Amino acid sequence: MSFTGLSFDQLAALLGSRTRASAARRWLYRGGAVPSELPARIPGVKPAAWEAVRSAAPLPAWRLARREVAADGTVKYALDLAGATVETVLIPIRGRSTVCVSSQAGCSRACAFCATATLGLLRPLDAGEILLQYAVAAADAPAGSPVRNVVFMGMGEPMDNLDAVLEAVDRLLEAPWPGLSAAHVTVSTSGVLPGMKRFLREGRGHLALSLNATTDAQRRRMIPHNRTWPIAALLGALREDQALHPGRRSFIEYVLWDGVNDTDADVARLVALLEGLDAQVNLIPHNVFPASGLRPPPDDVVRQFQKGLARSGVRSIVRWPRGRDIAAACGQLAGRAESPSAEA
Ligand code: SAH
Repeated sequence: MSFTGLSFDQLAALLGSRTRASAARRWLYRGGAVPSELPARIPGVKPAAWEAVRSAAPLPAWRLARREVAADGTVKYALDLAGATVETVLIPIRGRSTVCVSSQAGCSRACAFCATATLGLLRPLDAGEILLQYAVAAADAPAGSPVRNVVFMGMGEPMDNLDAVLEAVDRLLEAPWPGLSAAHVTVSTSGVLPGMKRFLREGRGHLALSLNATTDAQRRRMIPHNRTWPIAALLGALREDQALHPGRRSFIEYVLWDGVNDTDADVARLVALLEGLDAQVNLIPHNVFPASGLRPPPDDVVRQFQKGLARSGVRSIVRWPRGRDIAAACGQLAGRAESPSAEA
């Protein structure tokens, strides 16, 4: 068990009081940069009680391998977690920040358009390692832009490491710290149906489905496991969930590729697929990485696509890429070797 993975109750039990547990959480999440090891003492906790935590639940083994800042203020961290490198991204926008965390080192899925897939699965992360990513990035947020949102959109397929992801989401929501609101936590999936169903049943926070296509033929080429869990089954699960929880919105991500899924016919099919779902679509122009061979559509095609959806009453926003110059944008996380220094 690690310090960042402990629940508040576990921490309180080790420290012998909830007041001390609050002080320890405050130290971690409001006390500045995260050290590599727990210090000998922290404010507000008796040294003997703290010693129990230090021996039972040290920080996960971690080291900052690299920190890069993009022209738009996005920061990408490469964290060495006991030998596995994972990437975490801090995205400050208009007075608040979002942290994008990884759920696996590498990824268990083989999406054709994603740089992380080229790594394969190195290993799953535990809840403490996911919270550590949050703590490191949150401590580094600009003074006027505290972290309010967490998205599980870094490396990895969250549904393939769901126990740890559900635990990490619970930790993020625990008061008083980190104390995020469930409405501000989003877990994104490439469409692993059994995990999606379980997340919708048990998980807190939003689920985002990376749909990325309007026909199964298109989707299979990009996301091999669409053979097992096709579009109708994925959207069926979202529909069932909305029938049970009226008012719960579904987030649909749609990566746009030039000449692949960006036509008027795609707009019409997407509208038809989402019929009756309370959905918000996030359009993501493809972020290139070496060897993908795919390209984003021209910006005006992206805008046309969005207008087409709007005309049919489908809400969408465009995720214009941030941090592209440091390969911190969606689908570009794959460590130094894959950084697009040669990107056109
Ligand atoms: N495995 C999860 C979460 C990680 S990917 C998932 O697939 O949802 C987070 C988002 O980035 C997904 O919506 C994915 O479709 C998108 N993405 C992956 N590669 C991309 C790329 N090269 N350009 C733009 N978006 C990409």
